[in-house]
Amino acid sequence: MQDFKLSEHDENVSVSFIRDTETLSRLCSEWLSKEAIAVDTEFDRTNTYFHNLALIQINDGQQIWFIDPLELKDVSPLKSVFESETLVKIFHSCGEDLEALFNKYHFKFNQIFDTQIAAAFADMGPSLGYLRLVELISGVSLDKEHTKTDWMQRPLQQEQLIYAAQDVQFLLPSYYMLRDKMLELGTFEYVIQDVDSMFEAVSAPENYDSYYLRMKGIFRLDAKQTNRLKHVASWREQLARLKNIPKTFIFRDPQLLEICQTPNPKMSDLLAAGCHRASIRRYGAELLATITQADLVNPELWPEPVKAFHKIPKAKELSRQLKALANQVADKNDIPQEVLTNKRLIEYYIMRNMKLDVRPNRFWNDWRKTLLSEAFEAVQF
Ligand SMILES: [Zn+2]
Repeated sequence: MQDFKLSEHDENVSVSFIRDTETLSRLCSEWLSKEAIAVDTEFDRTNTYFHNLALIQINDGQQIWFIDPLELKDVSPLKSVFESETLVKIFHSCGEDLEALFNKYHFKFNQIFDTQIAAAFADMGPSLGYLRLVELISGVSLDKEHTKTDWMQRPLQQEQLIYAAQDVQFLLPSYYMLRDKMLELGTFEYVIQDVDSMFEAVSAPENYDSYYLRMKGIFRLDAKQTNRLKHVASWREQLARLKNIPKTFIFRDPQLLEICQTPNPKMSDLLAAGCHRASIRRYGAELLATITQADLVNPELWPEPVKAFHKIPKAKELSRQLKALANQVADKNDIPQEVLTNKRLIEYYIMRNMKLDVRPNRFWNDWRKTLLSEAFEAVQF
């Protein structure tokens, strides 16, 4: 693969591949003395559970660097870069990038500045796309999304490399503008914290027994069925990881829910629930055995059936009160209301206060606790 000049949009930036660990190590030491670098990754996870990392792009302000993880196996010098508490690493919508890097290299991350999160704080709208961000901040119109190309093929096409370079090229100017805005609003640290709590959720040790709580419609299940679902959700999650295939390649959520509600499920019930024939052939017997096993569990150890949020006494009234208080706090602190809280966070807060089973919510982190706890104490549970 050739190095090239990125002469798009009147900037002439060099793009080079880092081909050996010594060069990477030297560059990492240089980067550690900088304020910020921009990072993006390309990956593929069409037919796998885990991301297949295909490219790491870094813009250090002088030039753009590519690392091909299929070619350069030892990228250990990057560890200190991602862990550094002084060097800011700029990403746009970093969730999957961090997950991909964490699963492959087990890096820890500090000082990650996500321009999508910052843009939301700056009132540029929630979930702002990179192309729109670049348009708004740099006035440059980039070509449309390129995520559908095959990032695992080699050699990568020149067009892919240009896209990949552009993904970090405009991150630095976006950062400087958003950084100044965040410092002015006093929210720079909040942006960093929101990524920290996102990464905590990604890197937390897996609790397979809580996966059933993510499924939609679980409140329709009684205690026995909920216990079954807890077991089959845990089984499917572990199987998907072991085989490195998407969970949907095994069975889909609504199918599992239906089977758990069937009194004595048999193979024919799997077909009736809409399961794929190939899935039934490969995993049907194991699913039914998991249910049989679950039914042997002492009923005293079954989980509580999950309550539908709207059926919780006073839920609607409490939500309304909390939301109103949160909005006052948001306005007073110059934070867009939808950035401070969302429906899920309010529900989480209520369920937690009522000691109901609820999955941790990453938005309930330090800065939100500090701003909201006192205001929320006014609400009577
Ligand atoms: Zn990209």
